[in-house]
Amino acid sequence: MNVFAVMDARSNVNGGKLMEESIRSILADPGILGDAAASLARDADIRLAGVSSMQIVQILMEVESRFEIEIPEDMIRPETFRSIGVIAEAVEVVVKQQSPVGKPPNGEPMDRASTAGTRLRAPGVEMTSRADESVLDGLRASLARLFAHEVDDHYTAPPVIARSVSERAGYPSSFPHLLGEVHGALPGSGTGPSDLVLTSAACHHLYPLISEEWRKELGCLSVEAACYRGEATAETGRLRSFRMYEIVRWGAPDDIAMWRHRALSIAESWLRDLGLSIERAAANDPFFGSAGRYLASAQQSEQLKWEMLADVDDGVNQAVASVNYHKDHFGEAFGLARPDGSVGHSACLAFGLDRLLLALKQRYGSQIPAWPETIRARLEL
Ligand code: AMP
Ligand code: ZN
Repeated sequence: MNVFAVMDARSNVNGGKLMEESIRSILADPGILGDAAASLARDADIRLAGVSSMQIVQILMEVESRFEIEIPEDMIRPETFRSIGVIAEAVEVVVKQQSPVGKPPNGEPMDRASTAGTRLRAPGVEMTSRADESVLDGLRASLARLFAHEVDDHYTAPPVIARSVSERAGYPSSFPHLLGEVHGALPGSGTGPSDLVLTSAACHHLYPLISEEWRKELGCLSVEAACYRGEATAETGRLRSFRMYEIVRWGAPDDIAMWRHRALSIAESWLRDLGLSIERAAANDPFFGSAGRYLASAQQSEQLKWEMLADVDDGVNQAVASVNYHKDHFGEAFGLARPDGSVGHSACLAFGLDRLLLALKQRYGSQIPAWPETIRARLEL
C-alpha cells in the first residue's frame, strides 16, 4: 500500500476538533482572514467576520483539494459555509461518504478527464526525478562532510513517528493545524487514529535515542526524514511533504548556546559556497492560537530561531535552512540528563532539501548539466 495514501489531510478527521482546526487554518490564509482566524469562535458567522463570497469560493476549493473530496452540489449553499463549526461538520460528513480519489463509491473507474488537474495532484506533494535526486544526494554527502568532525552517527528516519514522541515534543498542542495523523485498522475492530503520526520535524526522532542510557554523554547526531506539515498555501517551496536533514547537538547550556552561533555561520558559508545569496533573519515558528502568538513573539525576541532565506522562485524567498535553540525544552520532555544530573540543552540545524534544490534551480536554471563546473564538482554531479 502506498504510504502516502494514509498521509493526507483526510487523516485529520478525528472527533471534530482537528477538522475544526484544519478549517480554521484555511481561514488563516493571509488572503482570507489571516491572524484573525485564530480567535474566531467556532460558531461565529464568517461573513460577519469579513469573509466575502469570493473568499468562500476559495475556502470551498481549498477544502476540496485538501481533503480530496467533491462537496455535493446540494451542499454548496451559504448555510454550509456559515461558520467554522458548520463547515467542519459538513466536510466530515462528505469525507466519510466519499472514498479516496480514483475509487468512487459505486466502484466504477473514474472518468480521468473529469479528474485531471488539481484533483489528482495534491498541492505541496511533489515527486523527485532521478536527476533532481542526484542533486539531493550531492547535498547530503556535502553536509555529511561538513559536519563529519562532530556528528557521531547519521540516521534515516521513516515518515511516521510514535504519537507519544510527537506529544512529548509538544507538536500536537503547539501546531495542531500542521499535524498529520495516521488512521488505520485498530486492534479489535474498526478503524481510527493509530499510535503513529506523520513526522513533523526530523529531529523529533532523535530525542528518545539521546535520552537512552548510553547516550547520556553529550554529543551530536544527524538525521534525515520525510516530513509532513499541513501547510495551507501552495506557493513554490511551501510543501506538505518535504525532506529535512538535521544536525542535532545537546549538552551544557553554554556549549549549546555557542554551538548554535557556530552552526549558523558554518551553514551560511556552505550555502554561499553553493552560490546562493542568503539573508539571515530572526524567526518564529507558526505556533497555533493566541497562546501561540505569545510563544512566537517570545521566540523572536529571545532569538531562539534563525532562518537562512534564499530565492526559490521569482519573488519567492523562503527559509532553506534554520537553526533552533530549544534551551531545555526537549531536555525536560525526554529526560536528557547530563552526567552531573542536570537537564541538557539542545539545538538543531535543519536544512530543507527540497527548498535547496529549488533555490539552486532558481539560481542556475533547471538544466543541471549546464550548472557551473564548480557547483557540479561540489555536489559530485
Ligand atoms: P523548521 O522546523 O520550520 O525550522 O524547518 C526546518 C527547515 O525545513 C526549514 O528551514 C525549511 O528549509 C524546511 N521546511 C520547513 N517547512 C517546509 C515546507 N512546508 N516545505 C518545504 N520545506 C520546508
Ligand atoms: Zn529540529
